Amino acid sequence: MKKKILTLAAALSIGIVSLAGCGEAAGTTKVDVTSAEPAATAEEIKTEIPETPSDTLGEDVQAIIDRGVLRVGVKNAVIGFGYEDPLTGAYSGLEISLAEALADKLGVPVEFTAVTAATRTELLDSGDIDCVLATFTITDERRESWDFTTPYYTDYVSVLVEDKNGIKTLEDLKGKIVGVSSGSTSAKALVKAMIDAGIIPGDGFDADSFDPATWTEGISFRQYDDYPTISTALSAGEVDAFCVDKSILAIYRTEGRSYIDAEFSPQEYGIATVKDSGMSAVAEELVTGYLSDGTIDKLISENGLD
Ligand code: GLU
Repeated sequence: MKKKILTLAAALSIGIVSLAGCGEAAGTTKVDVTSAEPAATAEEIKTEIPETPSDTLGEDVQAIIDRGVLRVGVKNAVIGFGYEDPLTGAYSGLEISLAEALADKLGVPVEFTAVTAATRTELLDSGDIDCVLATFTITDERRESWDFTTPYYTDYVSVLVEDKNGIKTLEDLKGKIVGVSSGSTSAKALVKAMIDAGIIPGDGFDADSFDPATWTEGISFRQYDDYPTISTALSAGEVDAFCVDKSILAIYRTEGRSYIDAEFSPQEYGIATVKDSGMSAVAEELVTGYLSDGTIDKLISENGLD
């Protein structure tokens, strides 16, 4: 697993300065980046974050401060959200800026771990990462296992196809094989959209027990561990279509490929944290503060996501 440590100094050089400024405006922690002193204690942080909803920051937050680094799971190939420049190794995107701001709030540097839809929750559960900022859609089912902040972005699901195959609509997908990422919401979203459009009857559909591996009514799925592999499978004709959020599909929409004429199933992205942890409160405060002071809108437009 590839990990990168971004020091606060490096964060400053790639634009955290403006975020720190916005944080101040929102009444969040001001971090003295010139100080070589150890990170603040939870008591200090507590008094500097007046809006923190919980009384105490929690042992988990103190443990992160004591460790001296915030570990965040991010995507590394989703331009505008979480992208690692292959030449420089520098990360950029909306979710990267939010992760940096979160670390800044705690007065520690951030360490990025590249995650996929299949790995992000196990890394959070095992404690390898403290939170997930990785195009992670908030669902009721997921809320049972992890805390999510208020959404910071809403995307939609669509389907990418090879033009030469003549698939243009949801209807054309009938009987086809679709590549999806394991651990994603994509297959369920597509089946639901086809049922809603009256393309398949959906008698056997149950949202709680839906499994892409066994679904065969009108459409079937192949699951992959990562998106580059689905893209390759699409080129090779192993699958007829590639279904996921448009933010992710955009990278693979190369010459000779198009989206079908449909986008569906709003995907609200939130920061995921361990259930009932102190980090849940810290992350929520960051997102709500940045939503109300316009920072999220600014980051969305700076990253070309509007
Ligand atoms: N956003 C969707 C999900 O959380 C698509 C998968 C992904 O984020 O990689 O399931």
